[in-house]
Amino acid sequence: MTVQEQYEQLEKTVREYNPAGDFARIRAAFEYADQCHDGQKRKSGEPYIIHPLAVAQIVAEELKLDSESIEAALLHDVIEDTPASHDDVAHLFSPTIADLVEGVSKLTRIQYATKEDEQMENLRKMLIAMSKDIRVILIKIADRLHNMRTMEYQSPAKQKQKSLETMEIYAPISHRLGMQRMKWELEDLSLKYLDPVGYEEIVTKLNDRSQEHEAFLQRIQAQIAQRLNELSISHVVYGRIKHPYSIYRKMFAQNKSLEEIFDLFAFRVLVDNVGDCYNVLGVIHDLYKPILGRFKDYIGTAKPNGYQSLHTTVMGTDGVPFEVQIRTKEMHEIAEYGVAAHWKYKQNGQGAGSEGRYEWVRRLLENQEGADAEDYIHSLKVDMFADEVFVFTPNGDVQNLPAGATPIDFAYAIHSAVGNRMVGAKVNNRIVTFDHKLKNGDIVEIMTSNSAKGPSRDWMSIAKSSEARSKIRQWFKKERREENIANGRASFEQELKHAGLSMKDVTSAENLAMLLKKVSYGSLDDMYAAIGYGGFTAQKAVSRIRSELLKLARQQQAEAASIKAAEESIPIPRPVKSEQGIIVEGLDNCLVKFSRCCTPVPGDAIVGFITRGYGVSVHRADCPNASPERRASQEGRWLKVTWGSDTNESYPTTIEVVCKDRLNLLLDISAALSTTQTFVSGIQSRSTEDGFAIIRMEIRVRDGEQMQAIMNKLHQISGILKVTRPAG
Ligand code: MN
Repeated sequence: MTVQEQYEQLEKTVREYNPAGDFARIRAAFEYADQCHDGQKRKSGEPYIIHPLAVAQIVAEELKLDSESIEAALLHDVIEDTPASHDDVAHLFSPTIADLVEGVSKLTRIQYATKEDEQMENLRKMLIAMSKDIRVILIKIADRLHNMRTMEYQSPAKQKQKSLETMEIYAPISHRLGMQRMKWELEDLSLKYLDPVGYEEIVTKLNDRSQEHEAFLQRIQAQIAQRLNELSISHVVYGRIKHPYSIYRKMFAQNKSLEEIFDLFAFRVLVDNVGDCYNVLGVIHDLYKPILGRFKDYIGTAKPNGYQSLHTTVMGTDGVPFEVQIRTKEMHEIAEYGVAAHWKYKQNGQGAGSEGRYEWVRRLLENQEGADAEDYIHSLKVDMFADEVFVFTPNGDVQNLPAGATPIDFAYAIHSAVGNRMVGAKVNNRIVTFDHKLKNGDIVEIMTSNSAKGPSRDWMSIAKSSEARSKIRQWFKKERREENIANGRASFEQELKHAGLSMKDVTSAENLAMLLKKVSYGSLDDMYAAIGYGGFTAQKAVSRIRSELLKLARQQQAEAASIKAAEESIPIPRPVKSEQGIIVEGLDNCLVKFSRCCTPVPGDAIVGFITRGYGVSVHRADCPNASPERRASQEGRWLKVTWGSDTNESYPTTIEVVCKDRLNLLLDISAALSTTQTFVSGIQSRSTEDGFAIIRMEIRVRDGEQMQAIMNKLHQISGILKVTRPAG
């Protein structure tokens, strides 16, 4: 085919799906490209222009894109490979077309090195993010497809390198954009160069058995068609053998030979509506035995790239399994052409009505509100990664940073040591300031020095990534404790003042303990340091203690006032005289008696109860008769009492032991009491049903200390299990 014939064919292809295309401009683009590339040859020896023509042909045939895309495809190598500039193209055609061509050139310039998976994903994202107009990536994929189709003329090294790139970058992007046909072709072509032996084996075997396969496909297809015709379900049905790379992957993953591969055949049934999809599914399952667990409903739940279909695998009558995919014709368009299918609907003027069905395109692309078809196409942007930016290290590694990231973010993303020693940065070989915003595809280089002072505090507000900020904070935390403490203290004091509090309020012994507990720091310096490096804020510190401090301050004021009032009006008699060693608060010379239920001794915590007619009765604070409930219900009758310094010589009290009765037990008990010089006024003993004895002793003791000594002594006696002071 001559160059002219090839061009005629392109025009014809475009005319078929877009009769209103701008053919004068398409021809102008072809003629300008032909002139620019004049004299250049492809590796095959053919004139260079056949490549842009072929790319435009793919863009038309496979993707059915608009006139601008066809023009851009024809011109896609002129900026990169000929003297033509962006301005020239913008002037002769349009700024949009110049941008499209420039976009494709930018993607061409990106260098790939073989990387681990994570790097590959970043590269794919970067490519899409760099293609601000989605047509850029579509044209670039068409360009790559044609280069892969004509790869035989390249050196083996170049074949491998380009094939790897295609397999890792362009096929997955095609998949992501929903373009299955191009994805398959890219994969198969890549496989051919990456594993020529494996590829040949599959292709040869498939060829050898092609007659047999063809017969099988025909037979099944006829069976399905016949049944659907009987039921008057309008449909298209066809069968195919799965593509070589898909078979290759299965063989590899399952470690099987081609003969052992489970499903080599796939049939497709295209129908008019979703209801029929499920009707056909029923027919298929009736005709053939379905294989359990192989049915997938991607109509109910579409794949993330918008793919919709019913999949099932069944066993054919002759024992050969095959897959059947059932979908509507529209679903099929989307499955085959992905994002590109959208244009077709737009151009045929059917777009407006069917837009709801392209929600997934909407998710991929932004800003299509209320625009007419042409405007709409112009405004299409790939917004998948709008909040990320992808840049290169000088070695070609991709770093993925938040949009608006600066060299500081980049440096800390490499390593905190790089960030901490950074003294300068270069972007695309030019020195930039630290707040320079990085763009997709930038090559960033960080200059470091071992004598660098370390990060400065304003880096914290320049950095966009939380990773960089936290690493800077770490540095300040470690390297600058003294400075942090001073800074932290200053902002804390200022914040206190703001809240109407003073440092004195904080540093008093009891307040300080409360404060440190509230903020969970071990010391004030620790808290200051945290505020200083930004791990904590003065506002938070003060707000956590503010209410507590205000309460304490009010309490202290009230106490001071009441003491003052008391001193002025009712003079409290001092020194207070005690009655039997008991001081009753607010009452002097009142009658005091010790309750019989709990028999307190000096040193016990005690409370007083105003009895009717017998003065104040003194209980142990832990006596059940003085329980908090009782004290609350008889408020006003309970008094604060304390032991004075002039206690009696001794106080009567009770002690009880539980023991296993034995010979001479009482003897041992009296010996213990006698060694502690305890006066015993009575002993009662009783036996329990289970063979224990409870001995209750009325004794007189000086104070709690003597009481404790007695109890310890009794505890040591063999057979005594428990020693208590009864109460209640
Ligand atoms: Mn090209």
